[in-house]
Amino acid sequence: MAHATSTEPAGSLAPLALHGLSVEGVNQCVHCGLCLASCPTFALLGTEMDSPRGRIFLIKSLAEGRIALTDSTVNHLALCLDCRACETVCPAGVPYGRLIEAAKAEIERERPGGLVRQLFRRLNFGLLLTRPRALRLAAAGLRLYQATGLQALVRASGLVRLLPGTLPEWEALLPLLPPRAERAPLPPLIPAEGRRRARVAMLTGCVQSVVFGAHNRATARILARNGAEVVVPEGQGCCGALNAHGGDHDRAVEMAKRTIEVFEAARVEAVVVNTSGCGAHMKAYGELLAQDPAYAERARRFARCVQDIAECLTREPLRGPLRPVPMTVTYHDPCHVVHGQKIRKEPRQLLAQIPGLSVVDLKESDWCCGSAGIYNLTQPEMARRLLERKVNHVLATGAEAVVTANPGCILQIQAGLRERRSPMRVLHLVELLDRAYGGRAS
Ligand code: SF4
Ligand code: SF4
Repeated sequence: MAHATSTEPAGSLAPLALHGLSVEGVNQCVHCGLCLASCPTFALLGTEMDSPRGRIFLIKSLAEGRIALTDSTVNHLALCLDCRACETVCPAGVPYGRLIEAAKAEIERERPGGLVRQLFRRLNFGLLLTRPRALRLAAAGLRLYQATGLQALVRASGLVRLLPGTLPEWEALLPLLPPRAERAPLPPLIPAEGRRRARVAMLTGCVQSVVFGAHNRATARILARNGAEVVVPEGQGCCGALNAHGGDHDRAVEMAKRTIEVFEAARVEAVVVNTSGCGAHMKAYGELLAQDPAYAERARRFARCVQDIAECLTREPLRGPLRPVPMTVTYHDPCHVVHGQKIRKEPRQLLAQIPGLSVVDLKESDWCCGSAGIYNLTQPEMARRLLERKVNHVLATGAEAVVTANPGCILQIQAGLRERRSPMRVLHLVELLDRAYGGRAS
């Protein structure tokens, strides 16, 4: 927490900070309340302290040392999705995402929880996300668990319900692991087709690379088809987004530095990302590393190169020919694309270029589906309510598929549709584009 130091003139205060991270942005809030109607947790709970304005008040009070991290304070802050819908509508430009990440880092330091929780966090944040080999090994184990029918047996027997804490929810959300060939790394270089327009690098991601390797392959094919020489830097790992959102700040900083080093060596014009949380987080590396003299400038330069796949593909019209995809779809905006990166029209522009595709509007398309990083695992009850609301709107469209651009949203909405026994599919934007190009996703 912030305190005035003896070297400062009387009356001056040190910058407001939590866990050493500036939360000065709280002072930008003019308490107008314009954000309240856009906040999913306020909409569901109706309490001021579960609104952006209320949480900003809590963060400011914490940083000024006027309140303590009581159970109630922790709960209000932990219920925040970090969806940043409040940022989109805030007329005062409050950098809410940065404030809540600082608060979550402070909570983790002051209230780390019991041994089981700490071990679980260390396993995920410290081992699986930081060591790609460990993640691949875990993915192979999970694939075996699923392919042998053991998972179905365990689920049918009800044994899962005996697991402690929120582990039953974790188990229910386990993604279906694809066969080994789909989890294999991409080649280090994919040449451009036709006249070369650009040389770009691709982030293959952590969970993305083992669960949705097919999306990475489709992304690389579409980029190459559109004249990009695609570099897939070896040694890349997790960008640290999940760690940062989960309050694991120090490790997130180390992961950011490593990511910058790996991609700098690739000497490319842009770093293309097909997972929204990663893209939004990497675009904020400049702020994350602003206090590190060795990395501040490199981080700012790197962040300027990061492009979401939709952003990258709309810089020029898509190269044809594109085959018809006769389907009716609707589009769900992932929070970290629409609010985190302010990308709203680009995915729709891409869909509009696919012949035969009909796109119908989705009510509250930019409302969080409840996935929100690991929110559906840490706050299963709220996540379930948000998912139900999302699935109701999705089903009301009558579309054959819902298109989105984030692995977390895909898994969450798939789980919701499965529960309602709906045949509606959830597709990544690149799957549809790849289909239009006659790629493997077709
Ligand atoms: S809209 Fe912005 S300024 Fe207004 S209350 Fe919300 S965070 Fe504060
Ligand atoms: S980030 Fe989302 S859940 Fe959190 S306060 Fe803002 S709008 Fe509400």
